[in-house]
Amino acid sequence: MAPKLLSSTNFKSLFNSVDTFLFDCDGVIWKGDTLIDGVSQTLDLLRSKASSLSHSGKNIVFVTNNSMKSRRQYAEKFRSLGLASVTQDEIFSSSFAAAMYLKANNFPKDKKVYVIGGQGILEELQLAGFTGLGGPEDGEKKAQWKSNSLFQHDKTVGAVVVGLDPNINYYKLQYGTLCVRENPGCLFIATNRDAVGHMTDLQEWPGAGCMVAAMCGSTEKEPIVVGKPATFMMDFLIQKFGTETSRMCMVGDRLDTDVLFGQNAGCKTLLVLSGCTSESNLLDENNKIEPDYYTSMVSDITKLMDS
Ligand code: PLP
Ligand code: CA
Repeated sequence: MAPKLLSSTNFKSLFNSVDTFLFDCDGVIWKGDTLIDGVSQTLDLLRSKASSLSHSGKNIVFVTNNSMKSRRQYAEKFRSLGLASVTQDEIFSSSFAAAMYLKANNFPKDKKVYVIGGQGILEELQLAGFTGLGGPEDGEKKAQWKSNSLFQHDKTVGAVVVGLDPNINYYKLQYGTLCVRENPGCLFIATNRDAVGHMTDLQEWPGAGCMVAAMCGSTEKEPIVVGKPATFMMDFLIQKFGTETSRMCMVGDRLDTDVLFGQNAGCKTLLVLSGCTSESNLLDENNKIEPDYYTSMVSDITKLMDS
């Protein structure tokens, strides 16, 4: 069915059929480090138990593919943008998902995890009781091949996690590649495969997809992806909240991650046009990923609730 523009009529039926709103972050809540207008009021209204549309407030969850920060660091970011009521428990980042994937799969605590990515992944690994190596610390290291010496890597590494890494280099690629190629049991995990990200409000920059692709090239393997649109985070959320997915609505700005993530799980989906997808992208005849509803930005919800 063609996506419907959100209206006061269809919003009321969407609102009454949903207990939990899952919000993507970049392009929906913020753009880079800038809060999108009206978000704070809309979140307050959705949480409020006194809404005119329903007697009970909605659960709110934030799901981001950006692995650069841990949940603790995201809670700080929400606070710094004036959204102080958001708690760590409501935040699901792909950095956290990588650690939870290892935990869910009983990754042995005596094995190590090599990280091509940011501090957020290392922090989540540590909080889950795992030993991480690499990350920013290896950003200045050099790999040089010499005929008389071997590149050394820790043979107890049992997983390599790859996310966005602004300091990716040949050393990290050689390290991660040896771990995966020399140990057939070594897991190769990607936090996400986004092609680009909005590091700033003004421009897009290469995302984790290109770092993951580099490791795919050298290992000749495909990764286990834990971020959107893969189902791991959704399975985790369902277990945690015990909510039926048909009573969840995924709100996002990207068709091939957010909307697909919601659709794959049977959630309702709402695309906002405040991020990377324009109305013409959405309505293009070649687009195959169609949300249930679309609207220009999250704050439209406030207007529709008031109307
Ligand atoms: N990965 C990186 C590195 C990013 O900068 C972004 C957005 O800025 C994303 C992923 C996508 O994040 P989200 O899922 O919150 O849209
Ligand atoms: Ca987004």
